[in-house]
Amino acid sequence: MEHTVVKEPVTEVRPMKRDHYAMIINGERVESSSSEVFKTYNPAKGEALATVAKANKEDAELAVQAARNAFDNGKWRKYPVGKRSRVLNKIAAIMRERFNELVELEVLNSGKSVGAAQIQINQSIEDFEFYAGAIVGHRGVVNNVPNGFFNYTNKEPVGVCAQIIPWNYPMMMAAWKIAPAIATGCSVVLKPASLTPITAIILTEICHEAGVPAGVINTIPGSGSVIGDYLVQHEDINKVAFTGSTPTGKDIMSKASQSLKRLTLELGGKSPNIVFDDADLEAAVPGSLFGIFFNTGQSCEARSRMFVHESIYDEFMEQFIAKTKKLKSGDPFDKGTHLGSIISRDQLEIIDGYVQSAKEAGATIATGGKVCKIEGFENGHWYEPTVITDVTPDMKAVKEEIFGPVVVVEKFTDEKDVIKRANDTEYGLGSAIWTTNQARATRVAHKIDAGIVMVNCPFSAFPGTPFGGYKQSGFGRELCVETLDLYMEDKSVLSYHGGKPINPFGV
Ligand code: NAD
Repeated sequence: MEHTVVKEPVTEVRPMKRDHYAMIINGERVESSSSEVFKTYNPAKGEALATVAKANKEDAELAVQAARNAFDNGKWRKYPVGKRSRVLNKIAAIMRERFNELVELEVLNSGKSVGAAQIQINQSIEDFEFYAGAIVGHRGVVNNVPNGFFNYTNKEPVGVCAQIIPWNYPMMMAAWKIAPAIATGCSVVLKPASLTPITAIILTEICHEAGVPAGVINTIPGSGSVIGDYLVQHEDINKVAFTGSTPTGKDIMSKASQSLKRLTLELGGKSPNIVFDDADLEAAVPGSLFGIFFNTGQSCEARSRMFVHESIYDEFMEQFIAKTKKLKSGDPFDKGTHLGSIISRDQLEIIDGYVQSAKEAGATIATGGKVCKIEGFENGHWYEPTVITDVTPDMKAVKEEIFGPVVVVEKFTDEKDVIKRANDTEYGLGSAIWTTNQARATRVAHKIDAGIVMVNCPFSAFPGTPFGGYKQSGFGRELCVETLDLYMEDKSVLSYHGGKPINPFGV
C-alpha cells in the first residue's frame, strides 16, 4: 500500500496538542502503510488522549532506508561540526521557548506530576546544549609511532542507529538518545514506548524545525516485539541503543549479536540506599524519600532497597514514614502534587502483586500498600506511596524491580555486611550512601557494584555525568562525553613519510 503523506515536510511544530500524531519518516509526517492507529492514554484519568499511527514492518523498513540514505548520501555528517552544534543549540532553544507546552504534553501522556515533568524537560533541553558543546571538542589523537611514520585517529559516526526507549521518562530518554547520536553525525530510527509516544514525536518535529535534514531522525511508534525486533535484526542498522527492562535487553543482545551490531543497554535496577549511623538525618530523610518516590517510583535508578543502621533505625523510620504520609498523590497539574499516577492498569497490578506477596511472606506494610482512588481521577491508575519493613532477602519484593512507589527497608549493624547485602543483587545501576564520615563515604563508594553512587545527594545525574549500570543493569554510559564514543568508530590512519621506500619482504 502506498504511504500517505499527511502533511508536507515537517517545518514547524504547531500545534503540539493534537487529536492524532503521525510517524516521522524522511522528514515527513506519514501514516502507517496499513492505516493502523492505536490510542494513547492519559493514565491519570484512564482516558484516551489521541490516536497515533502504528508502524508495521513495512514502515520500519522505510524508516531504516531513509536513515541509511541520509547517512550514506546526505549532508548531515558532512557538516562542519560547528554547524551541527548550532542546530543542536537551536533544538534546545525551541524547546525552551515551548517549555510549558512540552511539560503539559508529558504530564498528559505519562500521568507524572508537573514538577517531575519540568525537571525532565529541562534536563532534555540541557542534554542538547551539553552535546552541542561536547561534540566540538571531541576529536581524535596523534599517537607516538616510530620515526618516519605518522598516526592519527579520526572519529567517525558509527552509522544508522536504532534507538528503543521506555515509557517512564518519555522525552528525556528520547533526548538522551537523539542528542549524542546526531551530534556525531549518525542517523536515527527511534522507537518510543507505545504507552508514551507523543513527546518523542514532537521532539523529532522540533529537530526538523531546527534544521536537522530529512531522514536523519525517523520516529516510528509501534509494538516492541514487532518493529523493535525488526530494527534490532536489520542488516542496515549499525548500532542499537536500548533503554528498558533487563529481559528485553537480553533478548536484544542475543539478536543484535547475529550481525555484531554496536550495542548500548540501559536496563533495570534495584538500587540500595544506605543510611549510616552518622548520617545527617535532615538530609538523609528527604533525600531517601526523593530517591524512591520521585516519578512515582517509576525510575530505573529508584533507591528501592533501603538499609538503615540499627542504632538510628527507629528515629529514621519515624521521620521517613511521617514524611511518606505527607506526600500528596493527585492532580498531576497541581504544583503541590508529589506523586502522579502509575503508567497503566497492568503496571498497577504488578506493583500491587509485589506488595501483596511481601505481606503474605510476613513483611509489615508500614504505610501505604494499596491501590488508591483520587477524586476527579477515578479511572486513573494510582498507588499509595508504600514502605515495607521486616523483609527478608528471599522475598520477591526485595529481589526484583517493582518499578513503582514501593521501598523495602532492612536494618544493618556492620559496614562490611551492608556492602555485601547491597551488592547481593543481579542489578548494579544506582546506589546512595548517607554518612558524614568522608573516609567511609569514599571507602563504601568504591566497594559498591553500581555505575552510580550518590553520596549525601538525592540526584543521580546531570548532563555531563555518566549514567549506566554494572552487572545486569546493562553497559555503556549515557549523558556524558564518553557516550559520544559509543556512536563513533576510531579510525586509525597510519602513514609513512620516511622518504626511503620500505620493502618489508625484501624481495
Ligand atoms: P520494556 O523492556 O518492556 O520496553 C522498552 C522498549 O522496548 C519499549 O519501546 C518496547 O516497545 C520495546 N521492546 C519491547 N520488546 C521488544 C523486543 N523484543 N525487541 C525490541 N524492542 C522491544 O521496558 P518498559 O516497561 O518500557 O520500561 C521499564 C524498564 O526500563 C525498567 O526495567 C527500567 O528499569 C528500565 N529503564 C532503564 C533506564 C536506564 O537508564 N538504565 C532508564 C529508564 C528505564
